[in-house]
Amino acid sequence: MNVAAEIPWERAIAALEGIEQITDPNQLTKLSQDYYHFSPILAAQLVDKRADLVVRPTSEVDVLRVAQVCARYHIPLTVRGAGTGNYGQCVPLQGGIVLDLIKLNQIHSIRQGVAVVDPGVRLANFDKQARPQGWEWRMYPSTYRTATIGGFFGGGSGGIGSITYGQLRDRGNLNAVRVVTLENYPQVLELRGDAVQQVNHAYGTNGVITRLEVPLAPAYDWAESIITFPDLTTAARFGQALGDSDGLVKKLVTVCAPSVCQYLTALQDYLPQGQACALVMIAESSLEPFRELVREFNGKITYEKSAIEAQKGISLAEFTWNHTTLHARAIDANLTYLQTFYFTVERVLELEQQFGDEVMIHLEFMRVEGRVMPAGLQLVRYSTPERLKEIIALHEAAGCAIADPHTYILEDGGRKVIDPVQLAFKEFVDPQGLCNPGKMRGWSEKYPRGRVGQV
Ligand SMILES: Cc1cc2nc3c(=O)[nH]c(=O)nc-3n(C[C@H](O)[C@H](O)[C@H](O)COP(=O)(O)OP(=O)(O)OC[C@H]3O[C@@H](n4cnc5c(N)ncnc54)[C@H](O)[C@@H]3O)c2cc1C
Repeated sequence: MNVAAEIPWERAIAALEGIEQITDPNQLTKLSQDYYHFSPILAAQLVDKRADLVVRPTSEVDVLRVAQVCARYHIPLTVRGAGTGNYGQCVPLQGGIVLDLIKLNQIHSIRQGVAVVDPGVRLANFDKQARPQGWEWRMYPSTYRTATIGGFFGGGSGGIGSITYGQLRDRGNLNAVRVVTLENYPQVLELRGDAVQQVNHAYGTNGVITRLEVPLAPAYDWAESIITFPDLTTAARFGQALGDSDGLVKKLVTVCAPSVCQYLTALQDYLPQGQACALVMIAESSLEPFRELVREFNGKITYEKSAIEAQKGISLAEFTWNHTTLHARAIDANLTYLQTFYFTVERVLELEQQFGDEVMIHLEFMRVEGRVMPAGLQLVRYSTPERLKEIIALHEAAGCAIADPHTYILEDGGRKVIDPVQLAFKEFVDPQGLCNPGKMRGWSEKYPRGRVGQV
């Protein structure tokens, strides 16, 4: 449904005077999209969704004005960071306004291991300022160079650093946020401690985050290594052993089956054909014991860069997480992917046997509730929607948990259950259901005809 026809746009636009507004049709299309096309299912569903207007505030006061205009004229509002999400999280299903926060990007403070930042701060830009002071983000997505911190908490889950710090949703990875509400008289709320979970990974469905207080990690000098192994079994066991080695300081442990390595064309000099690999970021101070672990598994180090050398070219991180999918799709656009908690290496190997080359194994080791385990961003040779569903069901039947990347619905992509805390917060801060409408199943089921008139 596009509700644009009923909106008094002239009045809305006049009320937003002084805030940058974008109406050029090409720009509107571009700023209404993300990387949903990684999924053939979403590609078909979202291709024609477009905002009627994009606005670019530069301050929280501007955001309050936009919120008030949306509330007054019943305009759907979809927040956008850098638009690098994978599931159409920032695609405006019902048109309306896209609130592009890329210019709300001040770093307010970096003090005693805690940063206070605006949501539009790009992750890599922040680290450039924090690292000379001895700090860095605890984790970041492989889209680090473009993605924003607001978008990472709004729509991401974890990434490079999750091997040590778990996921964004874990208690302690976000201290506090300021949130602008979509009430008739919008206010700014400050949420601290567990209260932040009301908006953490909510796809911007329940308010606009205008400031974040984020705990940091001590900055290490990260060396980068590629290690090759004759088969996936050895590579995966090595990945688990490295993850379990508490004395080795690491930021990234990625493992790819030989079938996946073939798609990392820029690294082919270091990836002998038919071999599996591990891509690793390890503190320089841990390199000596790390090499001993590699020897224990008969791995071969084919690439090693010191931290200073690694800063010069493209980081290995840009071949991991969903960048692996990006590189593979550049060669074969028929490939798509899954996001799977395997929990154990044994289960990875069982499922590798079951699916062969239809599901090619790419693992990211990460800490989940205190234990390191393999998560998969497997490459899938796409045939039909039915087969994709069947592959997901077979993984679940084998004991895996899948975070489905082929849906834009918040709950269906995650834990499959409605989060009553996020829903209750939406009822409070967004009584008309204007924030990113159509994305929260809990809301659509409770208010199928919209909430106005029912309450
Ligand atoms: C090649 C590739 C690799 C990727 N790798 C990873 C990875 O390693 N880990 C990972 O977690 N993700 C990954 N992603 C997904 C995505 O890049 C990240 O999650 C990224 O952090 C999103 O940031 P963004 O600024 O682009 O957010 P956007 O895509 O603009 O927004 C994401 C969601 O957050 C909401 N949002 C944005 N800002 C706010 C705000 N201020 N208040 C409330 N809601 C807000 C939006 O409405 C949207 O629902 C990858 C994507 C691609 C294409």
